[in-house]
Amino acid sequence: MTQKAIDLLSKNQQGFVLLVEGSLIDWVGHSNDIATAMGEMDEFAAAIEVVEQFVRQSKDTLVVITADHNTGGLSVGANDKYEWNPAVLHKVKASPDEIATRAVADNNWQDVIAAHIGFTPTAAEYTLLDNARMQGNEPLTIALRKLIDVHSNTGWISGGHTAVDVQVFSSDRGQGYLAVTKTISTSPTK
Ligand SMILES: [Zn+2]
Repeated sequence: MTQKAIDLLSKNQQGFVLLVEGSLIDWVGHSNDIATAMGEMDEFAAAIEVVEQFVRQSKDTLVVITADHNTGGLSVGANDKYEWNPAVLHKVKASPDEIATRAVADNNWQDVIAAHIGFTPTAAEYTLLDNARMQGNEPLTIALRKLIDVHSNTGWISGGHTAVDVQVFSSDRGQGYLAVTKTISTSPTK
């Protein structure tokens, strides 16, 4: 979609502004879903690479990458432990929501879960998942998110937006960046 948008818009002689949003990043921040968050970030990174290819060939295009806010207060490392295990997330093959849907519909749900999350839960963890599964899709989805948090040692502080500073990255071949800094430096202070 990003490539197609650039192909169409870059034909405009008067220039263009394109906004590409990875909106699921916010949604999964609200639901504290690290596996889907990383999947969506991977998609977003692929979109950035498409934009970067275009900017490298262009003499006057500025790309700015940022977020309008943080959601969820994600912490990589939690529970007083100085470690995060992203390798766990690489093995998760579907969103917890999708895994729960499949596990609720399948009598062989233990194998379905193990195959999709990439590790075999302990007996105690299976008991928690079983209790959640008997309550339906949503409770099982939440239980799966928490299980993945525990195994990857991921922490969250909120189900809402936070006041954490967000990063801003930009890249261009010169002119675009100068135009932006000039505008900022000559704007009246508000
Ligand atoms: Zn939001």
